[in-house]
Amino acid sequence: MAAQPVRIEPDVQFIRELRAAGGDTLKKCYQCATCSVACPISPGDNPYPRKEMIWAQWGLKDKLVSDPDVWLCHNCGQCSDLCPRGAKPADLMSAMRNMAYQNLAPCARIARWMSSPKGLLPLFAIPAVIFGVIWFLMAFVVNFKGLYNGSLFPAGRIVPGNVFYGDYTIDPVFILVTIFIVAAFWKGVKNLIRAIAPEGSVMMLGKKKRLLVCLIEVIMLEVLPHSKFSECGEEPKEKVIRKIGHMCLLFGFLVLAVVTGCFFMAHWGGRLPGLEFIYMEVPLPFTNPFKILAQLGMVLMLVGLTLLTIRRKDLNPTKQTSSWYDWYLIGVIWAVWLTGTLTQFFRLADWTVLTYTIYYLHLVTVFMLLAYLPWSKLGHLVYRTAAITWIRYMGRK
Ligand code: SF4
Ligand code: SF4
Repeated sequence: MAAQPVRIEPDVQFIRELRAAGGDTLKKCYQCATCSVACPISPGDNPYPRKEMIWAQWGLKDKLVSDPDVWLCHNCGQCSDLCPRGAKPADLMSAMRNMAYQNLAPCARIARWMSSPKGLLPLFAIPAVIFGVIWFLMAFVVNFKGLYNGSLFPAGRIVPGNVFYGDYTIDPVFILVTIFIVAAFWKGVKNLIRAIAPEGSVMMLGKKKRLLVCLIEVIMLEVLPHSKFSECGEEPKEKVIRKIGHMCLLFGFLVLAVVTGCFFMAHWGGRLPGLEFIYMEVPLPFTNPFKILAQLGMVLMLVGLTLLTIRRKDLNPTKQTSSWYDWYLIGVIWAVWLTGTLTQFFRLADWTVLTYTIYYLHLVTVFMLLAYLPWSKLGHLVYRTAAITWIRYMGRK
């Protein structure tokens, strides 16, 4: 019987969006497959990124959005280095993830703002207004502890909590932010799993592992040790910079998250009868173990940020480029780090106006980092973990 022709209906709008999201060189690919051979972590039985290149050229949106391999790529750039046509397959894989940040989580407006520099103003304005209103109310309506006397800057010892009192301002705002991002990630991960679910049709031999076991394995064997970063990439020095940079940043965040969590528990626990002994008064002295730990987190962040910024800056643009998602993330983390460090510095120098102003900007940038996480490049921490866990659960090696 003669083979039936297959009609391909390219999604032209999708191709356009993909090119705008960073895959603008995909048309150069002529399917030589060098990239799939070059990729050190691509599986032999279903290699990438050659197949993604042709799907993208043909506008096969359904194929690409249900492709878990997009999340297995760790953006080392080795495939792009060796591509004889300069088609930058690493950029295409990255553009696919950028598009996923736009489409997986709800709130299309935030996704749109996050996708280009034009969205920076509203993204900044939201927390700027929230914390600006709080500051105004504390100064001119509440006149907290009677310290303001018609000024925005409270008199006496510099205590950032006198402008943004934790119990009634920062804690409620960031509790709501946490609920918001957990809900957005929940929906985003559900959409991701639904999209890559055809993996479920893979025939499996042997006993199936529990989902939770797979998740723990992925976190312990891949995410925390960053094991894939040792495998992909060509230049040994570049591999080390990427791995150390990412690990320092991740562990810096984890240390700061633990400190914040402990501080939150101590603060609220200290308000409960019988738990007053764990109460901590802010600002903490530099000898306090939590303060020391927080400084360690800041140092780790600085090392990670510096290494990753240098790496991005030194990329060869004919081989690999950086998208707005890359620069937004690096820029916001730098802003969080700098404002946090400068707040401490100005407080120690007893510069009232600068301390409170920079602390305000610190809150704004922390909000910009956390509240938009499901639509930012940092979302890959959750989506990639979910995708790898799922395909492990489905029995694929
Ligand atoms: S992206 Fe480059 S290396 Fe990969 S198949 Fe296309 S032309 Fe070949
Ligand atoms: S960027 Fe690296 S991990 Fe991703 S497909 Fe290319 S070689 Fe593989």
